[in-house]
Amino acid sequence: MTTLSTPARAVTERYEMVVGLEVHVQLRTRTKAFCCCDTAFGAPPNTNTCPICLALPGTLPLLNAEAVRLAVRAALALGCTVHETSIFARKNYFYPDLPKGYQISQYDRPLATGGRIAIGKNADGTPITIGITRLHMEEDAGKSIHDRYGGATAIDLNRAGVPLIEIVSEPDMRSAREAVAYLKVLKQILEYIDVSDVNMEEGSLRVDANISARLRGETRLGTKTEVKNMNSFSGVERALEAEFVRQCTLLERGEKIHQQTMLWDGARGEVRPARSKEESHDYRYFPEPDLPPLRLDRAWIEQIRAELPELPQARQARFAESYALPAGDIEVLTANAKLADYFESVARQHGDAKSAANWVMGEVLAALNATGQSVEHFAVRPADLAKLLDLVRDGVVSHSAAKQIFAHMAETGDPPQQIAEREGLIQVRDADELARWVDEVLAENPTEAARFKNGEKKLLGVLVGLVMKKSKGRADPRRVNQLLSERGG
Ligand SMILES: [Zn+2]
Repeated sequence: MTTLSTPARAVTERYEMVVGLEVHVQLRTRTKAFCCCDTAFGAPPNTNTCPICLALPGTLPLLNAEAVRLAVRAALALGCTVHETSIFARKNYFYPDLPKGYQISQYDRPLATGGRIAIGKNADGTPITIGITRLHMEEDAGKSIHDRYGGATAIDLNRAGVPLIEIVSEPDMRSAREAVAYLKVLKQILEYIDVSDVNMEEGSLRVDANISARLRGETRLGTKTEVKNMNSFSGVERALEAEFVRQCTLLERGEKIHQQTMLWDGARGEVRPARSKEESHDYRYFPEPDLPPLRLDRAWIEQIRAELPELPQARQARFAESYALPAGDIEVLTANAKLADYFESVARQHGDAKSAANWVMGEVLAALNATGQSVEHFAVRPADLAKLLDLVRDGVVSHSAAKQIFAHMAETGDPPQQIAEREGLIQVRDADELARWVDEVLAENPTEAARFKNGEKKLLGVLVGLVMKKSKGRADPRRVNQLLSERGG
């Protein structure tokens, strides 16, 4: 979190921040909202286009049923009421990347309204919840590219017509930190229900913020500004703080806040007003004449509700109850549904949930982070990790050998027993061999051996370490401990 400098803190002290967020999310469909063009990210410019999304005369839009299904799924997961009838509307504005001169959206009859999500707890344990005003469907615009040809703007229409949902929150957030918490929970829910890849870098999750400041204790809302162009969660946090300081400074001077659009400049760490043409709000909405009202069958909506997977907060509650794990572990393990599935599979097959949790949070996440792999494609399958943990529990391999075995598993995908045998990592519990290593270590380190035999117990750890090293990690440390203790007299 950005720390405000001392003068900035003084300016904001008497004020409360009020934030509402508008989040655009690209739905995970194979084709666009109103035509059959591919939605894949990263295709060569203007290759995923057709007469419909290029807005050639005489073409008509045809609604993508899968986009509707995903939008309904998202609305239900966010606790919204899905309406049986909603209306598509034209949002008219001119911009070079908008070939039709309007965007198909929804206006006064959106798909869904009235949701709520919990984003954490207050200091007194009461839940902090954020209202969702509405969730509607719309299509994306194309993209203007300013840095490809010197002095000229290029247009890529691959994204034009890609299906989006816009999720508008109530102005329920009271700090930049709460805004980020809301975004994280929202992103996590959308990931769990698999309606979007919610990738901020690729633009499939975009955030605009409405922010105002008011004196603490005041109940009326102050004049808000809209902040755009934030493309990371930390960008959102920094932008909101910068805009809050700007507003508080004006209010302290007795000046008025103008309702306007502000653009976040992440490199400079400041907000500046958008040029006036970027903030024209007269969209002259009217019902889209080329699309009939969207009518959904109540039974179909309920069917989608029935198909929703376990949502993050339900899963967290169940993990706390079934596995008795600490809250910090649960937060890490339920960060995404695939990781939670992976952990559960290991825990069920191995039996000891805490040990499964430690391995998944430690070795598994480290390996995934190092290679950038996703857990679904990770070479170590849950059944094999469970078997490795069985080998440690049964004393067949030592903990340090298990880490070596795991590294081989991550590379080859081979089962742990096979690797342990191949690499000579099966723990040696043969008494003669262990005794020989212990005696060799004592003979090679006469000074330490003598001090140990004279009662310097603290040398036990050093000597065990030397035996483990000599055995290349194959000695059973408990037995080595015993043998040395016996010799220590
Ligand atoms: Zn098309």
